[in-house]
This record gives sequence, structure tokens and C-alpha cells, in this order.
Amino acid sequence: MDAAATSEARRAELVTLFKAVSSCTACPLAETRTQVVFGAGNADAELMFVGEAPGFHEDQQGLPFVGAAGKLLESLLAGIGLSREDVFIGNVLKCRPPGNRDPQADEIEACQEHLFRQIELIQPRVVATLGNFATKLLSGSPVGITRVHGVEQRVRLGASEVLLYPLYHPAAALYTRAMLAVLEQDFARLPQLLGKGPVASESAPPEPVPVRVALDPESQLGLF
Ligand code: SF4
Repeated sequence: MDAAATSEARRAELVTLFKAVSSCTACPLAETRTQVVFGAGNADAELMFVGEAPGFHEDQQGLPFVGAAGKLLESLLAGIGLSREDVFIGNVLKCRPPGNRDPQADEIEACQEHLFRQIELIQPRVVATLGNFATKLLSGSPVGITRVHGVEQRVRLGASEVLLYPLYHPAAALYTRAMLAVLEQDFARLPQLLGKGPVASESAPPEPVPVRVALDPESQLGLF
């Protein structure tokens, strides 16, 4: 899509994509999922998160990051003055692997076009990958998250050039204090990467959160 395409046109395309992906049967996960978890958030987000795959709760509710890892993600976002309504959250796979096993190569290959199209339509400035699977897919490199977390890299994804920013997956930081501390440190750089300068001090008044109108209340797209 033309980089200069209007926000309305990109949103309309995103809804079209949502409807198409909702009935996708391109890999065997279609047979075991409860529903497709397309992703949710702000269709004009400057910051997009890409996790691994839906888990049990996501599969049940049709929304990404609604379990404990999602709560941690919301807390980390609040720490830099953002909320879920400001960002878009998705996954490499749109359907839950049985038993939350790791995504398989053929599943990633089948599903990746949906993710690349999402990025093309949302046009985020920064794509923060959460964990190994998203990082390796979008960086195009086999180097793991332990070595590349917290280091931004400029990458071209289809027609879009974005700043890729690898982070540990919140689920990995839930029970490991040291990893949580690293994740918090890496998160603290996000405002700078978004061109918004350093994080405001605690005494500064919070930025007003813009009110957004639901794009399509009939659907579960969850766009704001
Ligand atoms: Fe389609 Fe992706 Fe779901 Fe596989 S995981 S059925 S490719 S949407």
C-alpha cells in the first residue's frame, strides 16, 4: 500500500484483512484453535508489539495478551506513560498451538504474510518484538534474544521500513526478577525511540490519553 494512503483507507484494509484471517485455514492450527487471534489496538499506532502466539486465554477470548503476561505488558506500558489503546499488539502466529508448544517452522511460514500485511497497514515507527520467535522472524537473523535485546535495528519489512526493537517476552520475565529488571530497562528506552524524548519524571503531570472511537463495534477487532 502507498505510504501516503490515508488513515481511513489503511483502517478499512485492516478490517478486510481481519475478516480474511478470521477464517484462515492455511496451516493445521486451524483445526485445533477456538478462534483466530488477529491482534488488537490502535490502527495508527506508532508502536507495535509482536509476540509469539496466542495462549489458552487468548484463544478463548480472541484477544492478544490477556493473561498474566498481558498484565505485565500493561504495567510496563504504564511505566512509560502508554496504555494498550496507544499501541497495537499482535503475534507471529494467529492461532494457538496445542498445549502452548513452540510454533513450528511451517506454521510460521504459513502465517507470516498476515503479520507483514498488518505492519504494512499500521505503519508503526517502532516494532518491538517480544521473545525469540518474533525477533528471529522480523530481523531475518538466527541470533537469539539474549544477544540482541535492547538494541534497535532498522529493517525493511515488505514496503515498510521500521525500527525493530527486540525485547524479552513478558512471560519469561514473570517469574525471573533479573529478567524483569532488564525488560524494564529496555522498555525505558521506548519513548526515545518513538521520538518522544526521555520518560517524564514522576512529578510531571501525565500526558492526556486521547479518546478514540471504536472502529467497528460489531467485530472483535478491538481497534481503538
Ligand atoms: Fe492461518 Fe496463521 Fe491460523 Fe495457521 S496460525 S490457520 S496460517 S491464521
